[in-house]
Amino acid sequence: MKLNENFSNLNKNYLFLKISKKIQEFEKESPKKNIIKLGIGDVTLPLCDAAIEAMQKALLEMGKKETFRGYGPEGGYDFLKQGVQWYYQKRDVDLDLDEIFISDGAKNDVANILDIFGLNNVSLIPDPVYPVYLDTNIMAGNKILYLQANVENNFLPMPDEAMKADIIYLCSPNNPTGEVYDSIGLKKWIDYAIKMEAIILFDAAYEAFISEDSLPHSIFEIEGAKKCAIEFCSLSKTAGFTGTRCSYTIIPKELKFGGRSLNDFWLRRQTTKFNGVPYIIQRGAEAIFTERGQMQVTESIAYYKENARVITQALKKLDIWFTGGKNSPYIWMKTPKNLTSWEFFDVLLSEAGVVGTPGLGFGANGEGFFRLTAFGNKGDTVEAVSRLRACVMNLGR
Ligand code: PLP
Repeated sequence: MKLNENFSNLNKNYLFLKISKKIQEFEKESPKKNIIKLGIGDVTLPLCDAAIEAMQKALLEMGKKETFRGYGPEGGYDFLKQGVQWYYQKRDVDLDLDEIFISDGAKNDVANILDIFGLNNVSLIPDPVYPVYLDTNIMAGNKILYLQANVENNFLPMPDEAMKADIIYLCSPNNPTGEVYDSIGLKKWIDYAIKMEAIILFDAAYEAFISEDSLPHSIFEIEGAKKCAIEFCSLSKTAGFTGTRCSYTIIPKELKFGGRSLNDFWLRRQTTKFNGVPYIIQRGAEAIFTERGQMQVTESIAYYKENARVITQALKKLDIWFTGGKNSPYIWMKTPKNLTSWEFFDVLLSEAGVVGTPGLGFGANGEGFFRLTAFGNKGDTVEAVSRLRACVMNLGR
């Protein structure tokens, strides 16, 4: 028996584990201090009524012989795919139902997609970014090139033909920086991918937070994308499904390499290794893709965006450089006094009892930066911001 030796190349310190250990230590030392967490990107608002009612109805169906359902189609029920299709049509993106694959998480799909690619691919991964892309490529033994995101390019790096990549990861709106590619930027990436015969894996997990009308929510809004891109999206952040689990992956039928269809490859992969999302959950998800569901999730998103506004207003007043917050639940701030990202984490926790995420956890370019999220409740966010302000003033900036 041989182990996958690539695992020994993974960074040992899983970011959120290290954070929760530090919080535990702090709670032991200062049991009376109330900690506010603006660190982990989990939602706090409950599911909307439309989803709850649909799932209650589906649950009752499961208890009756006439309406009970066993295994469903691996790629999802048509009723939900039609909902997704409707959602994309609103942005003039036409999808066939069999270009839509329903799954139980964008994380799983973005990781599992590597199954359909061969060994020794070169993956181009932004730095900083959602750590799953990097770790899954390390596990797969792929060669990794880093796409340098920094203040100079406003954390929106563009393609460079000197970089020869096979698999390109784009996350827009980006986790952790909150920055979003515009249509011109995405078109450049599409042209580059087609020229390189590379694939773009486009993670749109936060598309529902985009406020500016001109910004694309889906890469398929841009010409040429169906020839070179796969898109991942999820109801986790859009509709509070982080614990309920439902996502969708779009693989156009036009997407072919060497005459072979990636849609066929993924279908084969999913039918072999996955047995579908529970019927009850898919009914809940279907309810999100209705006018009523959309209205309700828009309200929750507006609540989070107000938190983002409170945070960004305070940073502006403190004259601290930041990105994000406008089209994203994430705010990516420069640490005051040039502290390292872990030093600022420690100061903010010990002085203010506020938890954020050190930028270094998202890649080397995250050093000197810090991620705050708008997913907290309003009262906590207002309190956290006032503590953050006092803490930064104390540091003398
Ligand atoms: N993609 C990005 C960029 C994320 O930040 C996250 C979660 O934080 C996910 C995907 C995971 O989504 P899901 O809950 O659908 O697995």
